[in-house]
Amino acid sequence: MTTTIPATMRAIVARAPHDWKLERVPVPEPGPGEVLVKVEACGVCSSDVKAYKGAESYWGGPSMPAWVKPPFIPGHEFIGHVAALGADTAERLGLAVGDRVTAEQLVPCGACRYCVRGQSWMCQVHNIFGFQGIVNGAWAEYMSFPKEARIHKIPADLSMEIAVLTEPVSCGVHAVERAKIEFGDVVVISGAGPIGLAMVGLAQLRGPKAVVSLDLNEGRLELARSFGADYALNPKTTDVISAVRDMTDGYGCDVYIEAAGHPASITQGLTMIRKLGRFVEFSVFGEPASVDWSFIGEKKELDLYGSHISAFTYPVAIDFLNRHRIKMDGVVTQVLPLEDMEEAIHLVADGTKSIKVVLKP
Ligand SMILES: [Zn+2]
Ligand SMILES: [Zn+2]
Repeated sequence: MTTTIPATMRAIVARAPHDWKLERVPVPEPGPGEVLVKVEACGVCSSDVKAYKGAESYWGGPSMPAWVKPPFIPGHEFIGHVAALGADTAERLGLAVGDRVTAEQLVPCGACRYCVRGQSWMCQVHNIFGFQGIVNGAWAEYMSFPKEARIHKIPADLSMEIAVLTEPVSCGVHAVERAKIEFGDVVVISGAGPIGLAMVGLAQLRGPKAVVSLDLNEGRLELARSFGADYALNPKTTDVISAVRDMTDGYGCDVYIEAAGHPASITQGLTMIRKLGRFVEFSVFGEPASVDWSFIGEKKELDLYGSHISAFTYPVAIDFLNRHRIKMDGVVTQVLPLEDMEEAIHLVADGTKSIKVVLKP
């Protein structure tokens, strides 16, 4: 199978906060070990929105250095088809032109202490597709996988709306693994965005007594119910702390996974979790959150687990999606062309009319 590869392509180029524009740029040439991919679809993540808006954790500021390296092409939640292979690539990776593929969002440096010790999801260099010009993302017609990229095949017959969720589901798998869920646990998942919704089905696969989904949006709660939540409750209209205490003989939940990204969700979790419970923090916060830290030690002796992106969980996510072990139908709410990138950003920022917005070049 051969296709003619054009010399130039349409791509969103990010140069500064709010300065993200559709431009015509050269199609990357695959060098030795590299893979040129024709992008099929790419999700818009809340991290893309934060980067678009100029958040300090991306562009730097008084308390931290810049992490993004403009100009760059955004987009790290992608699927596509192999368009061309650089020298020595086909044998090494077992890939052929036409294969449907994705690559893990983080391209490991291979040399830092984390990469060397098999903990590359915490790579010190931390090049993630779509935030630095050397690992341009997928809001473009084509993208290049560098030779260090971790590439995975995607089944050809999996629908685009499900396959494009591979990255967020991989992140959900890691967070749920961190929670070490046991039979008999009551698991609360705060936040029913794309990843919180994935966590509902993933947590059920661990065989707990009950999974409780919390969100302020009724549409998202409806989906959480259809994905297997035993309870889907709205903290706006239900006293969720009492509700969780009622279902646990007054003790509180065994596991609380914080995936809402709002400071109130942390306080709520520290209040409703039982003593010796497991609290998993997954979210990225727009600003520092303050809580009564004594819940963790003196009051409850909690196990507190952080969870960052995906730790070798892409194969699990792809397998679960492919075998329908978890449901994600209806999570993709809008599919838009690159021309409508700004509308896509606004839909995700607003959050009331969308769950996952996808760009299709
Ligand atoms: Zn993301
Ligand atoms: Zn590294």
